[in-house]
Parts: sequence; C-alpha cells; structure tokens
Amino acid sequence: MADFREKVRELIRLLPEVERREGEPMCGHTSFRIGGRAALMLLPRSAEELERSFACCRKLGVAPLIIGNGTNLLVEEGELELAVIKTHGGLEGVRLLNGTEIEAESGALLARIAVFAMEHSLTGLEFAHGIPGSVGGAAVMNAGAYGGEMKDVIVRTLALDEQGREFTLTGAEHDFSYRHSAFTGGDVVLKTVIRLEKGDGAAIRGRMEELMAKRRASQPLNYPSAGSTFKRPAGGYAAALIDEAGLKGYRVGGAMVSEKHAGFVINAGGATFDDVLAVMEHVRETVFRRSGIELEPEVRIIRGRS
Ligand SMILES: Cc1cc2nc3c(=O)[nH]c(=O)nc-3n(C[C@H](O)[C@H](O)[C@H](O)COP(=O)(O)OP(=O)(O)OC[C@H]3O[C@@H](n4cnc5c(N)ncnc54)[C@H](O)[C@@H]3O)c2cc1C
Repeated sequence: MADFREKVRELIRLLPEVERREGEPMCGHTSFRIGGRAALMLLPRSAEELERSFACCRKLGVAPLIIGNGTNLLVEEGELELAVIKTHGGLEGVRLLNGTEIEAESGALLARIAVFAMEHSLTGLEFAHGIPGSVGGAAVMNAGAYGGEMKDVIVRTLALDEQGREFTLTGAEHDFSYRHSAFTGGDVVLKTVIRLEKGDGAAIRGRMEELMAKRRASQPLNYPSAGSTFKRPAGGYAAALIDEAGLKGYRVGGAMVSEKHAGFVINAGGATFDDVLAVMEHVRETVFRRSGIELEPEVRIIRGRS
C-alpha cells in the first residue's frame, strides 16, 4: 500500500488540473450502494483530461478502473488500492452528427441519449431508455433490453488501447454478441456514434413509456442493485432457473434474491460485498445442482484490497 500511496501522490502531482477525490467511498458511485474507499478517483471534464489521466496512470504502472455510472459493479469494501477514472459527470457531450447519427461522449447516460433521440424524432434507442448506465459502459457490455442491443445501433467508437493509443472500431469490428464486445478490460471508450432511423416523436415517447412501465412492474427498482446479477445462460433464463430452484427471498445479511424478480440480487439494507457474493455463490451452486446449468455473473466484481 505504501508504494501505491506514493504512486497516488505522484498522480496528483502530475494531474493538478483534473478534479479528484482521495479516499472516495465507492458506495456513493455504485447502484448497489456497496464499496469501500478508492485511494484516488479522477473526474476528467474532457477527452483530453481523460487521455492525460490514463497516460499518467500507465506511466506509473497503475491500471486504472474506468467506470461510467457504476450500475454493473460489485465493489469490495475497505481501503482499496484503486485509481478510478469516472466518465459520468464530466464527459457527457451529446450531439447530432447528421440527420440520423448521434455522437455521445462515453459518460453520457443512455436515458439522456434516448430522450435526445426522441426530441429529434429518431427511433431505435427506445429499448435503452430504462438502462441506467453510461453509453461507454453500455458499449463495453453490449447492454440490451426488450429485444434491442447496443449492437443494433452503434456504428463507430473511438477508444484508447492499453498503451494509451487511440483507435476506432466500426460496424462488425466491435464484435458484439450477448453482453460481449471487442473492448478488452484495458481499453477506454471515449465516444461512440449511434445510428438511428427517422420516426415519429410521439410514437417513440409512447414506446419508451411502455417499456419503463414494464420495468417498473417487473423489476425491484426501489432497492439498490446492479440489475441482472447473472448472464442469460444458453438454453434458459437465469431468473426462471433461480425462481424454479425456490431461491426468491434467499438472503445472507443484507443481500437477497429479489422476491419481485429472481434475476436481481438486491441490497435489502446494509448489504456487504461478502453478503452479495455469498448469495451469488449459493444461487450458482443450487441452480447447477438442480439443472446442470452454470450461471455466470453479469455484474463486474471489483477487488482492490492489497
Ligand atoms: C436497475 C438496473 C437495471 C438494469 N437493466 C439493464 C438492462 O436492461 N440491460 C442491460 O444490459 N443492463 C442493465 N443493467 C446493468 C447496467 O446498467 C449496464 O450494464 C450498463 O451498460 C452499465 O453501464 P455503466 O456506465 O453503469 O458501467 P459501469 O457499471 O460503470 O461499468 C461496467 C463495466 O464497463 C466498464 N466501463 C465503463 N465505462 C467504460 C469506458 N468508458 N471505457 C471502458 N470501459 C468502461 C467498467 O470498467 C466495467 O467493467 C441494469 C442495472 C440496474 C441497476
């Protein structure tokens, strides 16, 4: 930790212009409301600041954790040897490139981009309106809902590779498949271009409201969570398998399989990282014993204790 603290001090010295927080509680930056204190959080306000932050981390041999809106993360507690770079809050530009294309910086929320699309009578992004993440996180995860995926709308993405070099992916180069993209853990998405179609503003609004109502009716949105805890396995649905195994309401400490939607592990009050992991492990074992199907986590598990 001493060595890491020195690196953090050096990062602060090298990046005086970048807004930062030291010892920042990650529970305030994750939808699960769980997570200990990151040694350093950088909050760049432009692509240049993000690139410089990333370059300085690299120079010091620190692999930063890039986060968007923290809605797919389960973060360990305690004092964490983490240098976090958060895109949501600072990198939020959204603009119309031409009649049907929208360019968005990585920290812009999908909800905001979907509303922007609606205001410009562009259809195709309605599915994403209720997904609470940033477009950078959604590109990396190939987020999707109600029959739509980022794969259907993203046409071009500018990113940095692990060495800090810019590269652009277009179309099939994104290699999108279910909750997968070509971006590796070390890449940083800077901005992305979404292509939509001309539509009718009122119909787009109607579809967004309809999908939001479906979400409210089926998902435990009044509790902190990271959405679906497990990926959809081949040959089944995680929620159905968990429900059939009688696990709704299964609880360890403050973490619980939602009674409303078995696919969600929720923070029912005061849940710890270990509580959530214990619930996930029990769910995995029980479902595997009953069905022979291995559930794989969709949430990204972040550890950072030295
Ligand atoms: C109530 C609820 C409902 C949800 N519903 C859905 C749903 O319907 N469909 C769905 O797919 N997901 C859903 N999610 C999960 C989540 O919103 C998505 O996975 C979303 O895309 C994550 O975006 P984020 O900005 O929050 O990413 P984060 O949680 O901040 O990060 C997720 C991953 O992406 C990486 N990452 C983030 N930004 C960047 C970047 N700029 N460059 C490189 N890597 C980056 C992170 O390192 C991490 O590995 C839901 C979550 C909640 C809490």
